Amino acid sequence: MLDFNHRPKLSDKINLLIDKALTSEHSKQTSRDYLGASRLGVSCNRALQFEYTDTPKDEDQNFTGRTLKIFQAGHVFEELMIKWLRLAGINLITQKQNGNQFGFAVAGGKVKGHIDGVIIDAPEDLDFKFPMLWECKSLNDKSWKDVVKKGLAVSKPIYAAQVAIYQAYMENQIEGICKNPALFTAINKDTAEIHFELIDFDQELAQKTSDKAVKILCATEAHELLPRIATDSTHFECKFCPWQQRCWGLKL
Ligand code: SF4
Repeated sequence: MLDFNHRPKLSDKINLLIDKALTSEHSKQTSRDYLGASRLGVSCNRALQFEYTDTPKDEDQNFTGRTLKIFQAGHVFEELMIKWLRLAGINLITQKQNGNQFGFAVAGGKVKGHIDGVIIDAPEDLDFKFPMLWECKSLNDKSWKDVVKKGLAVSKPIYAAQVAIYQAYMENQIEGICKNPALFTAINKDTAEIHFELIDFDQELAQKTSDKAVKILCATEAHELLPRIATDSTHFECKFCPWQQRCWGLKL
């Protein structure tokens, strides 16, 4: 009789090896010493301040092997999307001539961001205007359907803030990028369906996001802890926050 019982054990063993290797690799990476512009849409300023100051997360809140696999799979989806867009005749540039990624650094390098790409040409009937910022995300089925139904600004305000601030900060390097709509691309990781959405530059959102960055930098320099977003630790933002115990264990 065939014994299938060994199969889960084998999977568990190999997955454990992979997860250990990934978490070990991740632990060797140097942590960021800047505020990531892609994160500025996070609604809690205190959480962003913890992130910027590299404050240790609560126990069991560090990235697991599974999370790291999800991140890396996202990069693979992005590479595929680049290939597919180019096959479709869209001229998408993802690197500068020297091979570096396009990006920006402001506030003396304390706020940085890297963009996924710039579209400089496309088939005429798409009626695109160039240069156009390109931002790509891979999402699970539920999340993807929500973006399709509600649109980026309502469904994923964090990404909407990212697009706005990237358009604003890249204008110095790529003239016209904030005048033209950005192309937001979301790939459904379960079905390979792709959603495209043109995002007009939202100057007010870009300004609000930039002001938030300044607030976090100034408070941190002054050794001030910014207020919590909620009055109760069971608030939904706090439930998913990797600093929940630390934050609510503080007097302020
Ligand atoms: S626990 Fe809540 S209030 Fe505290 S940093 Fe996290 S999200 Fe903000």
